[in-house]
Amino acid sequence: MFDNLSTKLDRAFKTLKGQGSITEINVASTVKEIRRALVDADVNYKVAKEVTDKIKDEAMGREVLTAVSPGQLMVKIVYDELTELMGGEKQDIVIKGDPAVVLLSGLQGSGKTTFAGKLASFIKKQNRTVLLVAADVYRPAAIDQLKVLGEQIGVEVYSEVENKNPVQIAQNAIQHAKQNNKKVVIIDTAGRLAVDEEMMREIEQVKRAINPSETLFVVDSMTGQDAVNTAKSFNERINFDGVVLTKLDGDARGGAALSIRAVVEKPIKFISTGEKMEALDLFYPDRMAQRILG
Ligand code: GDP
Repeated sequence: MFDNLSTKLDRAFKTLKGQGSITEINVASTVKEIRRALVDADVNYKVAKEVTDKIKDEAMGREVLTAVSPGQLMVKIVYDELTELMGGEKQDIVIKGDPAVVLLSGLQGSGKTTFAGKLASFIKKQNRTVLLVAADVYRPAAIDQLKVLGEQIGVEVYSEVENKNPVQIAQNAIQHAKQNNKKVVIIDTAGRLAVDEEMMREIEQVKRAINPSETLFVVDSMTGQDAVNTAKSFNERINFDGVVLTKLDGDARGGAALSIRAVVEKPIKFISTGEKMEALDLFYPDRMAQRILG
């Protein structure tokens, strides 16, 4: 994960690490290399520029030029800025209400259904009762997929095969949860291959009708800047609470992870790193920055 970026950043620090006396020119060229590494990692250009401008200011302000180990100080500055860029503190999801409702949104193929299973399993492990809801009225296969996952993790899956109204299905599911003492309801909605008006209207209606305590947007990190743009479109329509970045195991670049927070102004809350139900992690910006810097 993010191997290219790590290698390039490491190379950028080399000049500062090896040098006895450091000049402003050395710092400027290191900063330039860092910017190039970020852009190569598919970080939004404006974001890469902003963050490296900050790194440069910090480097000058914190006297990298006269530091005993300028390379180490620079690594620390970059670590702090990358952590900040990805949101600073870890942000938890809000599970509130009786039942608490978590709404999932995202494009088809983003890993939404897989994540629904993972989140259900995660919540179940906290000894809370969960109901999964298949509200994709277009793809019967999506309902079956969720049922298979539900069986695997021992969580009930609510669906209404004949009903084509996702708002009704979601409302009925919440009633069902109340009657059956399920404390958390996770609703998997229909995705499309690309952002379209009908999908947006539908998810907007579902959200308004059920008032979830948490709305998550699920996106494939491997799609880089497309992931960031899709997140922006969804956020403008449904004002979600957090992002789930999937398929990080196959993301060699890292652009979405690094820029989504800055562009969309919503925190990443979970990362998914595989197809198995256990491959789910909370997102810690500082740990991610540490990983990138190696
Ligand atoms: P949905 O259409 O958004 O519901 O997407 P799915 O949950 O069906 O996922 C699409 C494909 O991506 C499936 O083959 C999943 O097994 C796979 N997938 C989901 N999450 C991950 C992940 O974190 N890593 C990898 N490698 N594959 C994933």
